[in-house]
Amino acid sequence: MIYLDNNATTKLDPAVFEAMRPFLTDSYANPSSPYSFARQAALAIEKAREQVALLVGATPAEIHFTSGGTESNNAALESAAREDRPVIATAVEHASVRSTALRFAKRTGKGRLWPVQADGHPASDFALPRGSCAAVMWANNETGVLNDIPSLAREVHAQEGLLHVDAVQAAGKVAINLASAGVDTAALSAHKLHGPKGIGALFVRKGLRFNALLAGGDQEQGFRAGTENVAGIVGFGLAAELAGRQLGELTGRIRALRDQLEAELLSRVSGLVIAGAAAPRLPNTSMLVIPGAETEAVLALLDMDGICVSSGSACAAGAHEPSHVLRAMGLPVGPRVATIRTSLSRFTTAEDVAALVERLPVALQRAAG
Ligand code: PLP
Repeated sequence: MIYLDNNATTKLDPAVFEAMRPFLTDSYANPSSPYSFARQAALAIEKAREQVALLVGATPAEIHFTSGGTESNNAALESAAREDRPVIATAVEHASVRSTALRFAKRTGKGRLWPVQADGHPASDFALPRGSCAAVMWANNETGVLNDIPSLAREVHAQEGLLHVDAVQAAGKVAINLASAGVDTAALSAHKLHGPKGIGALFVRKGLRFNALLAGGDQEQGFRAGTENVAGIVGFGLAAELAGRQLGELTGRIRALRDQLEAELLSRVSGLVIAGAAAPRLPNTSMLVIPGAETEAVLALLDMDGICVSSGSACAAGAHEPSHVLRAMGLPVGPRVATIRTSLSRFTTAEDVAALVERLPVALQRAAG
């Protein structure tokens, strides 16, 4: 099997699994319990908090564990909406941000989408309403386009707004520093960086007033109620540490492999456009837009060759809807335009990429025929 869909999810690092194992077996105490058996779990959570904080340029007290990126995005936007702030999300956000923003807009009559330019960046002539909560992702999951978060933070703060950043795809793939970038709230997810699924984190800048989404116990400093997923948290912590140590691998070997993949396909596939190529992008992502064939047919043919790639975000793929990201960027989307996303990881080999370069032109030809 050739797995080139790492923006959907990643392989669990075997070392991460080993670190989680004791907390799925012998060390099962509730970390809030008062005896020393529970202290091991409580200490493990605090260590993971430090590991995650270090990866993203935060202090441990600013990191609160959640069930994943979706919950973190919902929690941050809900908190801002409860303060009566209009929620403005860019048109290319992940569904967990975009749908939430649209739901608030419908409910309150305030808030709307922030259009993007052809390169995928938020439109520079957009008039941000005063006091809004602007949601801008650090890296786009479909195209890999990276936003200039420090400059967007200045722009939002000049309008007395808050900046929420979905950093799910950026963390562990490029160096990010939430504090120095001026981010107010941010979402992170472990399974995008070789950690387990169902665990993520919400960053809340120190001193920011926050309205918790869930009512319940006092876990996570009152920011997120519910007994902690200790094994998941421990796995996230180690995955974050390993991702930080191996950032150079992503920006070196993997970027070179990705660039080679794009160069070879551009020379073999006529009409191929790489979405967002004019902007800085994640080192692992390519969104290939190819007129003349149907996405589903191409994906099915590649699947028969044992190659796992997708049409974009996993949710959009399930719904068979044309990508809202490509549409917002003004790229052609429709039944006879194939949109194929490849996303590499530190486990990707040159042989994996060579197989795609060989098989994709064949699949396109057969699908077109
Ligand atoms: N945000 C982005 C940009 C994503 O790519 C994803 C995952 O697909 C999410 C949020 C949701 O994260 P999770 O799967 O942890 O809920």
